[in-house]
Amino acid sequence: MKTLYEVMDGSSGDEEKLRKAGEILKAGGLVAFPTETVYGLGGDALNPASSRKIYAAKGRPSDNPLIVHICRLCDLDRIAWDTDKRAALVARAFWPGPLTMILNKKDVVPMETTGGLSTVAVRFPSHPVAQRMIDAAGGFVAAPSANTSGKPSPTSARYVAEDMDGKIDMILDGGDVGIGLESTILDLTEKDPMILRPGYVTQEMLEEVLGKVLVDRTILDASSAQRPKAPGMKYRHYAPKGELAIVEGEPERVTERINALCRQAAQEGKKTGVIAVDETASRYLADSVKSVGSREDEEAIAHSLYRILREFDDEGIEVMYSEAFSSHGMGQAIMNRLLKAAGHHVIRV
Ligand code: AMP
Ligand code: MG
Repeated sequence: MKTLYEVMDGSSGDEEKLRKAGEILKAGGLVAFPTETVYGLGGDALNPASSRKIYAAKGRPSDNPLIVHICRLCDLDRIAWDTDKRAALVARAFWPGPLTMILNKKDVVPMETTGGLSTVAVRFPSHPVAQRMIDAAGGFVAAPSANTSGKPSPTSARYVAEDMDGKIDMILDGGDVGIGLESTILDLTEKDPMILRPGYVTQEMLEEVLGKVLVDRTILDASSAQRPKAPGMKYRHYAPKGELAIVEGEPERVTERINALCRQAAQEGKKTGVIAVDETASRYLADSVKSVGSREDEEAIAHSLYRILREFDDEGIEVMYSEAFSSHGMGQAIMNRLLKAAGHHVIRV
């Protein structure tokens, strides 16, 4: 299949590209598009054949449900039940934006889209290209991240093309994404709301609107015997091609240990990489040292993490070490993704 690649440049030509994307989606095809979190791989959410194509293009296990993207608040009622009005409260506070809600689904949403579940994940993204494309497609676009299953989510169209060229109908290039980590997932189907995947919208922010909000214990705890409530969270995820380990402890000892580990790997003939912060980057000796930004600036860290993992892949780095980050606030989302990328390999010094 030839994949059309269209750059959204803010000119009047964008309208025509969006119209074409809408037509492809309505006809059951797949279009990758930018959102404020990461690039999504979209198909018509109400068409079971489209959802099957999404799983095939990503190589995604079919029990891992898709998020349905909408572009109008009033469309929520058409696909999900909000019997206790908590969803309306959350939507008013955080939509459009990087928050996904799990609700009981209505019959129009096919089981193919929800991975066989009777619940549906819904998000109203704030990115203008995403909103206009969803509108052109008829209002309901199922979209997981536009990467091959298991790889880091794409934060620019270049990475989408790397994974999806030849497998989907069209890529809409809307430049680099703003946030760089996937949406927060909030389950509203139980008595107590629960975060199933941490993201830009934090527990503290949600508690201001809802009162007590629980967090799925499996998010940061690999030893938990429980199954994660979001099926997708059980898979090794966001992973670079090389081996990644996180080194945690007092800063000077972390630097020392990482340098020693890199030396050892280099002696074995392996190419080494380090994920550092602005404050520490100059202290490392490795083939490639990358800073995710200042340790104080969690938004910058979230923004660069996946790009850096992909850059290490491009450079052929075989062994990587990362410093650890605080797991409060947005740090919870950052550490959750980093731990998954590392297969929970943490070295404590
Ligand atoms: P992605 O779009 O690639 O970021 O993946 C979507 C995430 O949402 C996966 O982790 C899914 O397991 C999760 N998800 C989607 N629908 C549901 C649902 N109905 N219940 C629980 N988790 C869901
Ligand atoms: Mg994903």
